[in-house]
Amino acid sequence: MAATSRRLEGKVALITGAASGIGECSAKLFAEHGAKIVIADIQDQLGQAVCEAIGLSNSKYVHCDVTNEEDIKNAVDIAVATFGKLDIMFNNAGIMDSYKERVIDNEKTDFERVLSVNITGVFLGMKHAARVMVPARSGSIISMASVASNIGGVCTHAYTCAKHAVTGLTKSLAVELGQFSIRVNCLSPYAIATLMATSFLGLDKETVENKVNLLANFKGVTLKTDDVAKAALFLASDEAKYISGHNLSIDGGFSIVNPSFNLFQYPDNL
Ligand code: NAP
Repeated sequence: MAATSRRLEGKVALITGAASGIGECSAKLFAEHGAKIVIADIQDQLGQAVCEAIGLSNSKYVHCDVTNEEDIKNAVDIAVATFGKLDIMFNNAGIMDSYKERVIDNEKTDFERVLSVNITGVFLGMKHAARVMVPARSGSIISMASVASNIGGVCTHAYTCAKHAVTGLTKSLAVELGQFSIRVNCLSPYAIATLMATSFLGLDKETVENKVNLLANFKGVTLKTDDVAKAALFLASDEAKYISGHNLSIDGGFSIVNPSFNLFQYPDNL
């Protein structure tokens, strides 16, 4: 089979949280591969700037708070009205709450805010994508989970809870939508020094990267936003045509090792 250099030619993608970080990088990569892009975010100026960088004939910005069903419905309808259909829904938007060592110091409002964006927002994105994909009998829905969807102790309770829920919802919807040839998957990256991570840790980009590299299982390589965007591109493309219900880890093996055992540590002089 001949490889095509533009892997999303003719497709239409909606990406939430695409004004910055992983979403922005994915929007630009998807556009390079021929997709028309709808950028849905609450950061209007940044989102508009991403559209201008991509090209205004190939992209459109829409203000969309993923916790607001009307906003999500509107974003999906704008994708269809502007570009004729919706092939790819990337539920990427997410937030973190601030770190508190003890559960008793966590506030209910903070917990609910994280769940509202990180899981209810994903549910609403899935629901409205399905609304237009089911009649078309095709589509790829990708949602953003995290390394915190597989293990505990790497992020806050609310974030860990919401990201575990993304994998459950992904499986549940993959079962419902399989009968319509609609694929439903999620992504679980290790830490990347985006604005979300630098503000969570209160450190600059380089210090965050050094810290996460030190704790990583996979050494000598720093995880970047475009590594995640490339995994999303794969799941969005027809190359992944039989992959559904999958949580794709992009964590260099971080979530499958218990480092306390460290059986294969080579001596320093090797
Ligand atoms: P980012 O740079 O902060 O980008 C996220 C974008 O989503 C921001 O523009 C943000 O706006 C926006 N957003 C926040 N709440 C929203 C809402 N209610 N509706 C619509 N947009 C909203 O973060 P990122 O690191 O690229 O994160 C993207 C996704 O990857 C998230 O789901 C995150 O949990 C996940 N992830 C990140 C990492 C990491 O280490 N960076 C690792 C694993 C998974 P504001 O700036 O106003 O919040």
